[in-house]
Amino acid sequence: MVLKLYDTLTRGVRDVFPMDEQTVRFYGCGPTVYGPAHIGNFRTFVMQDVFRRVLETSGQKTFHVRNLTDVDDKTIRQSQEEGLKLEDFTNKWTARFRKDCKLLNLMSPHAEPSAVSHIPEQISLIQRLIDAGKAYQASDGSVYFKVGAFSEYGRLSRLADREITTNETSRESSDEYDRESAADFALWKARRVEDGENYWESPWGQGRPGWHIECSAICMKHLGESFDLHSGGVDLVFPHHENEIAQVEAVTCKTFARHWFHIAHLMVEGQKMSKSLGNLYTLEDLEEKGYKPEEIRYLLLSGNYRQPLNFTFDSLGAARKALSKLTDFSRKFQIDQSPGKSLGTDFGDFHSVQEALLKDLNTPEALGRLFKIIRELSEAFERDEFNGKEDEMNRIRNGFRTTMDAFGLQLKVKDEEPVEIPLEIRNLAERRWEAKIAKDWGLADQLRGQLFNRGWLVKDGKDSFELAKV
Ligand SMILES: [Zn+2]
Repeated sequence: MVLKLYDTLTRGVRDVFPMDEQTVRFYGCGPTVYGPAHIGNFRTFVMQDVFRRVLETSGQKTFHVRNLTDVDDKTIRQSQEEGLKLEDFTNKWTARFRKDCKLLNLMSPHAEPSAVSHIPEQISLIQRLIDAGKAYQASDGSVYFKVGAFSEYGRLSRLADREITTNETSRESSDEYDRESAADFALWKARRVEDGENYWESPWGQGRPGWHIECSAICMKHLGESFDLHSGGVDLVFPHHENEIAQVEAVTCKTFARHWFHIAHLMVEGQKMSKSLGNLYTLEDLEEKGYKPEEIRYLLLSGNYRQPLNFTFDSLGAARKALSKLTDFSRKFQIDQSPGKSLGTDFGDFHSVQEALLKDLNTPEALGRLFKIIRELSEAFERDEFNGKEDEMNRIRNGFRTTMDAFGLQLKVKDEEPVEIPLEIRNLAERRWEAKIAKDWGLADQLRGQLFNRGWLVKDGKDSFELAKV
């Protein structure tokens, strides 16, 4: 049982297997913690989670690393605007990201390193690149990667026939420094006035690392010079992943990641997501509209990851219906889905669902098969075919639980009991509501964080709020 997955580097579907014959070691580029992640970001994280679950439910061990970008232009600028220390600012958004991940039932990575906690590793990688003649310090103090000195550059994104310099993203072009060639990108950015106190000492003077070197250095530290799979949204193929490969392979002369897994864009109501269109929905935005995280998760995994997925409110409604069918099935077969320590591995009657998942993570096909199976089993149940056949019932229960583990769907089978809210929690929540009304967003966020840390979620309505257990 091997997962076959499309590989962006070779443009073909290839087996995913561990090079050490034991554990599939993989990396996913994490969020920049300067604001809430939107559902487009979460499409990538949900699909990476399904990737891991499909491996684990087929009995494969995994080691998952996802970074946190806690220093870059955006985090620095935004923290200054809010008058917060960079660390306090990024801690706040890291907590929010983790909360959202938990709500979406994403498995926690085995390691979640941040850029700021890996400055020495980034400096030493830059030094290795300079020593190898692949990087240089320019007159402004910044250090650049010499793209012309790495002949493999452009292999992942197939840029050979195109003009690399015209494909620069806004993220890069916003950092105009004194470089030898327009294609060269910054490894170390010399301190500028607008960086304030956000700088580190290095052999090239005060400054901070570039974004690309962060992922390369973190991968090398936590996964080694060569590992099994690297992943991210399709918008990261160029320049980010291309640069990550260059920075590592230029000094190790080894294959950096053996497999590249990219997830296509999310559209909203047929349109590209953008700030100006106001459709960069966060989990909180959708919860305020009455949608549940599990419905959002279902929708995000309902499309093929290689195709753009159109997020619509109609499809969220369809997700709700689909989940209620699964819940009905669970009730009928009395399936207890309390989360176990590890994921199930026995699909039983649902093995054809697993087959679809192992075939390039074909989640829409897998869901189609799942509903066909539960319809047939439900009909058999209605005909009383399982009466007295407890072994058969148990096989179905196990298979269904494993299938839900693979999709990461946590069904709420039991009706929720009313929960008692302690007075201090109620008081904290009242204070947060007052801060929100007073538009003191900093304090409101801080109190929301405190509530979350004590296990409570706040859901705002129009004129009041509700509290729920995390
Ligand atoms: Zn990255």
